[in-house]
Amino acid sequence: MNLLNKLYFNGGILALILTVFVAVACTISTDAQRDGKTEKDKPETTKKNSSKNPPNLNDDDVSEMKKITGGNSKKSGATSENQDKGDFIPVYAEVQNEKYAGFNQRFREQKVTEGITSALNQAFALPNDVTVTFRDCGKINAWWSPQEKSITVCYELMELAYQKAIEMGKSEDEANSIMIGATLFFFFHELGHGMVDVYDLPSTGKEEDAVDQLSTLILMEAMDEDGQYSAASGAIIFKALGDSRESYDFADEHSLHEQRFYNIVCWMYGKDQEKFGSFVQDGTLPEARAVRCPGEYQKMSKAWERLIEPWVKK
Ligand SMILES: [Zn+2]
Repeated sequence: MNLLNKLYFNGGILALILTVFVAVACTISTDAQRDGKTEKDKPETTKKNSSKNPPNLNDDDVSEMKKITGGNSKKSGATSENQDKGDFIPVYAEVQNEKYAGFNQRFREQKVTEGITSALNQAFALPNDVTVTFRDCGKINAWWSPQEKSITVCYELMELAYQKAIEMGKSEDEANSIMIGATLFFFFHELGHGMVDVYDLPSTGKEEDAVDQLSTLILMEAMDEDGQYSAASGAIIFKALGDSRESYDFADEHSLHEQRFYNIVCWMYGKDQEKFGSFVQDGTLPEARAVRCPGEYQKMSKAWERLIEPWVKK
């Protein structure tokens, strides 16, 4: 997806917060259960993981936040056919649960959110401001708010990813890396919902699947190894959630965790059959699906490129 090549994310910026989180995560209870709100994404536990698999892988209330930067500073570079009337604005919130104080502090000090919004502002024009917040929410969640025009990713969701990785037998360092990777996947998924909203993009299929596609595309096209690792991390968390689930919610707007897992793995393989050939060889990705993946990837890449092209800064 050529358009996304303009989007460069420094995966290292999120990696910087790793060590702090370990201490926090270790003290957290494991039964964080998501509340069934309207939002969107949930992740959930595991089966045995095959350590040999590659980085095997894997949505309204925001008032108390404080804007740290931003405003409507029109970015340089002009845009596309559409006027750039807004920016992605990093917003930090005070922690509600002291357990996350250190984590939150580190987010601020290292300007993690600013790093993400800066990259997005350089790549995309916006018809209005969109705020981006990572904070503790009192629930496991991440969502796009159509009313607030905001993306929120909860620390509790990050924590869940960490816990699932630990339950998979990963080391603390590996679990941290997987948590960061999965968080990026969740973030870009929510960004996708945001784009569908603010750009008024059409969709004839499940939006949840479509934005999983966008997240994977961004990770695979706009980042290097870190992006691939993040897509894999997102997949692995969905696998873990599927493995630990006790019931199926066939009425849910999301595809089943297992399907989201296989989709991401398929798209990674679709992007690079040589690099991710092991997915098929070790049985992670069934041959019957694998043969379709390159075509699937090309189709979704073409579709997303055409949809967002008017908003990509030239
Ligand atoms: Zn969603």
